[in-house]
Amino acid sequence: MRTPLIAANWKMHKTVAEARSFVEAFLPAVRGLEGADIALCPPFTALAAVGPLLAGSAVALGAQDLYHEDRGAFTGEIAPGMLTELGVRYVIVGHSERRTLFGETDELVRAKVAAAFRHGLTPILCVGEQLAEREAGRTEAVVTRQVEAALTGLEAAQVERLVIAYEPVWAIGTGRAATAADAGAVCRLIRDRIRAAFGDRAARGLRIQYGGSVKADNIADFARDPDIDGALVGGASLDPQGFAALVRAA
Ligand code: PGA
Repeated sequence: MRTPLIAANWKMHKTVAEARSFVEAFLPAVRGLEGADIALCPPFTALAAVGPLLAGSAVALGAQDLYHEDRGAFTGEIAPGMLTELGVRYVIVGHSERRTLFGETDELVRAKVAAAFRHGLTPILCVGEQLAEREAGRTEAVVTRQVEAALTGLEAAQVERLVIAYEPVWAIGTGRAATAADAGAVCRLIRDRIRAAFGDRAARGLRIQYGGSVKADNIADFARDPDIDGALVGGASLDPQGFAALVRAA
């Protein structure tokens, strides 16, 4: 069956030196743990330092974004091949902060997901509704639109390897996590949509994480739901012992 993925999204935190000392403390704390895949997504500037430290461990390297072109005049952007060269395996795409603060559209997110697959990276596609959308009863419509837009043109075999992070925007960084029941219901909705569009095999293989104020003391609630395959963790992933405790609790 699916192996849950616990991924750390450090956002714009940690210098190279801080990233190194995190890894040095974190790896011994999770050594020998089984039952979940673990990934760290440092800022771009720390990838080259963190990659070699993770080599030979069970912890994978991830990035927080990528650009969908392979090269060219795109000042400030990072191409997929620049990530794979550093040993990056996962890449977060379409995080709500990218969508809301940096204007990423469904179409750009789709192009980035496709680019990630073209380069053998596993996208962690983030979807989720804003508070006003939830209150207006539009959660299902919004999440469905985001998923369908991002996966247009993919093949079932790619979707089977994809990771989707369901992250209700109102739960991110607020300390106000969704209930496991609510999160599980949206994850099931996503899986049903995937089954309808890409077939049963893709739906069974696809991992769907929950994200939004996940902590060591609530991760077990989410982990119990058969349709929630791990978590994308922001604030609670910044401290090595705290994140190790979260991984253990999962
Ligand atoms: P949070 O962030 O865990 O700090 O709520 C999650 C995310 O944005 O991926």
